[in-house]
Parts: sequence; structure tokens; C-alpha cells
Amino acid sequence: MTNERQTDPDSPFHPVSLSPTFPVSERRILLWDIDGTLMRSVRAGSFKDYTIPMLEEVFGTAGRLPEMKVSGMTDLQIVGEALKHEGFTHEHIRERVHELRESYMKAMRKFTGNGEEVFQLLPGVRQALQAVHDHPRYQSALVTGNIEPAAWLKMEILGLSEFFTLPGAFGDESHDRRDLPALAAERIRKHLQMELVPEQFIVIGDTPNDIECAKHFGARSLAVDTGRFYTTDDLIACEPDALLPDLSDLELVMGRLDGL
Ligand SMILES: [Mg+2]
Repeated sequence: MTNERQTDPDSPFHPVSLSPTFPVSERRILLWDIDGTLMRSVRAGSFKDYTIPMLEEVFGTAGRLPEMKVSGMTDLQIVGEALKHEGFTHEHIRERVHELRESYMKAMRKFTGNGEEVFQLLPGVRQALQAVHDHPRYQSALVTGNIEPAAWLKMEILGLSEFFTLPGAFGDESHDRRDLPALAAERIRKHLQMELVPEQFIVIGDTPNDIECAKHFGARSLAVDTGRFYTTDDLIACEPDALLPDLSDLELVMGRLDGL
């Protein structure tokens, strides 16, 4: 893993003007998960429609992927788990990550390009992203298990790209989600040229892995109970700093964030 990776050329991320008067120590950076937090597939399990052909193309087999529960895992981790009994190590997979990325995007463009609605926004997402975008305390970045071009394709399809004004971290960078907040934070500090401590970052996600990766870095966490695969009790057991049923009540969302 390296901190010096190149920004994806398709990334819409661009520098933004900051409110110069808002004190640095009061700022909060929101690190958003995508699947189960901002959006979901219209049809449960459709992720496998494009990832199984992708693995078959690159490695000749999809291994255990058809029967796996993948929510909260990074894409590299999913590939590693799917193929570990086929004799492929993380090293083997990392060596072919460029090929994997190309094949993944080819399969995903085919999946999303047939004119059908394949992804849907979760309740309140757009208004919540707009509200934090308009508030001087917050800026948003993506921290997701998706490989970077897949993350940006989803944001483009849903019309959300403009809200993510800071560099993030993605699922083609590590098989361990706990690595991702630190990678994003380093890029964000550099980009903003600001000293930001881990407590100024808030991970927003729908799975225990999101809460775990926040704790690992020392960030706060806001859990949203909109994932398909974990119960409210699963999330509570991980002790997030805040928990919401979804993002539909804007006053509640802003109130919870204000306390973090
Ligand atoms: Mg998720």
C-alpha cells in the first residue's frame, strides 16, 4: 500500500474555496461509506452480477464469491476471501490490481448501461449532503470499500459527485478497511494544508466494519441503520458515537453531527 497513489483521472474531485473565518479546530470532515449508506442496489445481491464475471475473466474462477456475504468489506478483501481457497494470495491479487480494475469497470459499465435503474438513493441522502456542503463546519469525502472508479461511477449515476470535494480512500487500496480513514486523512490534510486531528473526522456508514475503521483511526462514527445485512443490535454492539435509523430527518442528522 502506498500514500503516493495517483488520483483517478475520472475523479471529479477539485479544490474548493474554504470559509477563511471558520476556525480549523471546529471543522469536521465527513468520511462517507457508499453502499447501504448513500445508496443501495435496486435488486439485492446484484453486486455479484458484475463481480463474478470480472473474477472469472481475470483469475479464471470466482471461487467462493457466489455464497459470500460481502457487506462492509473492501473490494480487495472480497476478492482475497473469494479466492483464498483457490491458491491466490493477497500478493497475487495486488499484482493484478490494474487488470482487476479494468475488468471490474468493463463489467460494471455493462451492468449499469442497459437503461434500467440499478442503484437507488437512500432516504434523505441528497438533502443531508447538501446541508453539510452548505455548512462551514463540514466537508465531505468518500471512504468506501468500492474500487475508486466504481465509487465515482456510482456517484455520477446518482448525481452526487459534486458533494465530495475532498480526496478519499477506496477499496482497491487495502484488503483491510481499517487502513482507509488514515489514508484519506493524510490526503485531506495535505490538500487543505491544515492540521486536523483524528477526532475531527466522522465516519458515516452502515456496517460494523465502518465503526471499527473509525475507532482504529481515532475518528468518530455515525452509524446509519440502512444496510441490508446487519441489524440495529449488530451496530449498537460496536458502540458507534451516534446511530440514526436513516438520514431522512435532516434536523436529527445535523443535531447528531453537531454533537460529534
Ligand atoms: Mg456500506
